[in-house]
Amino acid sequence: MSSSSSRQRICVLGSTGSVGTSTLDVLARHPERYEVFALSAMSRVEELAAQCLRYRPRYAVLPEAGLAARLRGLLREQKGCATEVLEGAAALSEIATHPEVDAVMAAIVGAAGLAPCLAAARAGKKLMLANKEAIVVGGALFMQAVEQGGATLLPVDSEHSAIFQCLPEDRASWHERIDHIVLTASGGPFRQRDPATLADVTLEQAVAHPNWVMGRKISIDSATMMNKALEVIEARWLFNLAPEQLKVVIHPQSIIHSMVVCRDRSVLAQLGTPDMRVPIAYALSFPERIESGAEPLDFLAKPTLSFEEADARRFPGLFLSWQALRAAEGATAVLNAANEEAVAAFAERRLRFDHICRVNRQTLEELHPEAGECASVEGLLNLDARARRHALRLIEGLAG
Ligand code: NAD
Ligand code: MG
Repeated sequence: MSSSSSRQRICVLGSTGSVGTSTLDVLARHPERYEVFALSAMSRVEELAAQCLRYRPRYAVLPEAGLAARLRGLLREQKGCATEVLEGAAALSEIATHPEVDAVMAAIVGAAGLAPCLAAARAGKKLMLANKEAIVVGGALFMQAVEQGGATLLPVDSEHSAIFQCLPEDRASWHERIDHIVLTASGGPFRQRDPATLADVTLEQAVAHPNWVMGRKISIDSATMMNKALEVIEARWLFNLAPEQLKVVIHPQSIIHSMVVCRDRSVLAQLGTPDMRVPIAYALSFPERIESGAEPLDFLAKPTLSFEEADARRFPGLFLSWQALRAAEGATAVLNAANEEAVAAFAERRLRFDHICRVNRQTLEELHPEAGECASVEGLLNLDARARRHALRLIEGLAG
C-alpha cells in the first residue's frame, strides 16, 4: 500500500449529482490511491454535509452564501469535521486550481462549469471531463487552455471514454489512424414513438431513460437526442476531427459505447455494461485500470446487438450539431445556451417537448457570434447570455 502522501488529491465539482456520486463511489473503493480534497454542489446541502462527514474533504463549496452558512451550521454540529466551507461561484475555480489538487472531476451540468474547467486546465491539472457543455461552449479556447496549461484532459462521457480507450496513448498518431468515429446512441425513450405525437410528451416520459440513470437535464437531452448532438461537438474537440469524421448510429442495447473506424477499415469498439463508474474509473486511473464496482458484461443476457439509423424526423436536434460545427466559431455555444434554456422551460412545463429543437434551431440560425467573443471566457459567457435571452424570447412567443 502506498503512503498517504502519495495519494492523489481529487476535487469533485458537482459531487451531489449523478456523475458526482458515482465518482465518490469509485473513490471510496480505493482509499489507498485517492483522497477527496474538495467537494461542491449547487443546492442539496444535507447531501453535501453527509458527503463531508464521510469523505472529510479540506474544502466544500456552495455558490450561494445562505446555503454555505447552512452547511457550516450542519458541520459545526458534528465535532471533528474540519471541512472549510467556501461560497460563491469563484470558489469553484479556487478549489479546482488549488496547488495541492492533482485531479479535478468536472461533473457540474451546463455552461456553469466552463470557468472552473478552464481554470483547472490552465493550472495544468488532470481534468476528468463529464461536463460536456463546458467543452461545447469553450471550443478552441478550452483546448488552448489544456495545451497551454499542460493539463491532461480525460473524457468521462461514456462514448468519448470508449473512443479514448480504443486509441493508443500517443495522441500524435491519432490523426493518421482514424478514418472516422461512430458514436452510439441508445435512441432514448422515444426511439419507437410515432414522431407525430412528440408534441404530447410529458416531463415524466422524457426523463425515463431505458438504459441509464442520470441527472434530469441529460435525461431530457437524451430524449431529444440533443445529448448526442452535444457529444458530436464534444468529440470534435477531444479528438480534433472534422465534422464529416463524426458519425452517429442508434444502438438500443447501450453495450457498445462507441467505435473508431481506422484508415484500414478495421473497427475498434469498447463494450461493457452501461455503468458510468467504468469511464469514471478509467479517467481516474489512466493509464492503469482499477476496480470500478460495475458488473461484468453478461454476453448471454443481451445476445443481440442491433443498429439503426437516426431518423431526422424523430430526432431533428441531432443534426443541429453538424450545422453548428460548420457555422461561425461560437455557434456551438449559441446552440448549447438555447438548449439549456429550452430544457429548463420544458422541465418547468413552459415549453412543449417538440419545441425544444425549434428553439435551438431558430436561436442557432438567428443569433450570430460577434468577432472576438470566443477569445476569452468573459466573451463566451457574454455570448452565452445573449443566446439565452434570444432563446427565452422565442420560448415566451411559443408559450403565448
Ligand atoms: P446532475 O444534475 O445529476 O448533477 C449536477 C451537479 O452539478 C450537482 O452536484 C449540482 O449540484 C451541480 N450544479 C448544477 N448546476 C450548478 C451550477 N450552476 N453551479 C455549480 N454547481 C452546479 O447531473 P449529471 O447527470 O451528474 O451530469 C453532470 C454532467 O455530466 C453533465 O454535463 C452531463 O451531461 C454529463 N454526463 C452525465 C452522465 C450521467 O450518467 N449522468 C453521463 C455522461 C455525461
Ligand atoms: Mg454520453
